[in-house]
Amino acid sequence: METAIKQQFCPICKIEVGWSERYPNYLCGECMGRARTIDGRPVVFGNASINGGLVATFLDNREAYLSDVCFVDGVECRAQEARFGGVVMMPVSPAD
Ligand SMILES: [Zn+2]
Repeated sequence: METAIKQQFCPICKIEVGWSERYPNYLCGECMGRARTIDGRPVVFGNASINGGLVATFLDNREAYLSDVCFVDGVECRAQEARFGGVVMMPVSPAD
């Protein structure tokens, strides 16, 4: 009898992350911390309130960033509100 080993890895840095059936390709926390806008400004994603809702803020001047698209090491990613709170980020194009 074979047991499937459920492992998954960050699509950017390849570090092992916790397995998630719902988010099979999510970025690790460290890579999420390197998120940039298309013009290279650091941006951070979070929840609008304890009831959820995704918000994004420029780290340099704390202005709202009205998009869920970001780039991590040049890879286009999208942030979304995680099912049980928090934020997950995944590449737009699936990794190889
Ligand atoms: Zn990573």
